[in-house]
Amino acid sequence: MKRSTDLIHHPYRAPTDFDAPQGGVFKASTVIFPDMAAVRSRDWMRKTGYTYGLHGTPTTFTLEERLASLEGGVHTLLVPSGLSAIAHANLALLQHGDEVLIPDNAYAPNKALAEHELTRWGIRYQLYDPLNVDDLRQRIGPQTRLVWLEAPGSVTMEFPDLVAQVQACRDKGVWSVLDNTWGAGLAFNAFDLQPGAAEPLGVDLTVHALTKYPSGGGDVLMGSLTTRSDALAQALKLTHMRLGTGVGANDAEMVLRSLASFPLRYHAQDQAARALAAWCAQQAPVAQVLHPALPGAPGHAHWRQVCGGSDGEGRAAGIFSVVIDARYNAAQVDLFCERLRCFKLGYSWGGPMSLVMPYNLKGARRLPSPQLKPGIVVRLCIGLEDVPDLQADLAQAMALAFS
Ligand SMILES: *Cc1c(COP(=O)(O)O)cnc(C)c1O
Repeated sequence: MKRSTDLIHHPYRAPTDFDAPQGGVFKASTVIFPDMAAVRSRDWMRKTGYTYGLHGTPTTFTLEERLASLEGGVHTLLVPSGLSAIAHANLALLQHGDEVLIPDNAYAPNKALAEHELTRWGIRYQLYDPLNVDDLRQRIGPQTRLVWLEAPGSVTMEFPDLVAQVQACRDKGVWSVLDNTWGAGLAFNAFDLQPGAAEPLGVDLTVHALTKYPSGGGDVLMGSLTTRSDALAQALKLTHMRLGTGVGANDAEMVLRSLASFPLRYHAQDQAARALAAWCAQQAPVAQVLHPALPGAPGHAHWRQVCGGSDGEGRAAGIFSVVIDARYNAAQVDLFCERLRCFKLGYSWGGPMSLVMPYNLKGARRLPSPQLKPGIVVRLCIGLEDVPDLQADLAQAMALAFS
């Protein structure tokens, strides 16, 4: 019988000079130390050594460093989902008695987390008007510790005056934390919103749902937190370590693999989304197109200020919403969504397949939203299909549902 011990403690060591475009997948719970001096001296916090799988492997360290560069930060931490990244920011930075401010058009689970979990721990929250910096400024009180920012907001895509919002947080001495899933490190640099300024003005921390563009396949859930601050990074790493929320090496490797094509995909999806958004604006059933790069859309001027770029064309993610004219009912909007063939019914975005989802915002927003026309909102996430096919698909479903 083959001895099990030989299968585990095999003497063969593969040559270590293997090099390839992809760095390989390093998987471990246990990490082996050569001696006790290594046990006592290794420092996973500084990424100078390995101690335990949860605290990092070559695969996760590599992905973290690439993401830090992408977003213009210094330190990045991986977590199991974008929502988990939001939770980590709250849990690392807030304590009993603190208050957190969230834009009214934020990613809905961010608001739900505050309402149902943070409040149970004695952390209060308030929603603020994302399009009114004075409203934000007035709500920042003595207990406020953290302000969530989203640019643009989820579903309704209003681009806020990010520069003024960050300045308001800085003036009041509170953390500014941006959900940077949309900009993704490509549309603008969240840590340097006014490139060329003498003193960089930027957020303290970003979270990113890598589930979207960096994964790009609709098949990985992962999130990240990025900062330039050593102190914030330290606080986040300790909370992360205590919560035990590491990511799988195979998932990290999939994101690393997709990262190389990410700028090309982002650009292609941006171009496609803008073409389709412009077409939608001409269609009779569409009362309003919500795409920050479209002139006239809520927050367009703010988008241009931050994402305009030197080429005048600017950068945007390949996602937008349309408000279906209020004369059409919910059943008709459902029919439109169901009759699309290229666009599939589903959540998330950034993958190869175009997606659609209707949102009835009645009740979802607590503050008035005069920038939005009445009607049901339909969000369109543009994949990598050919634009004429997507346009024809929208046209046939509109004709069918809204005749
Ligand atoms: C999808 C999304 C998240 C959450 O990401 P998951 O990985 O699905 O948890 C957070 N913020 C925004 C803006 C998103 O679109």
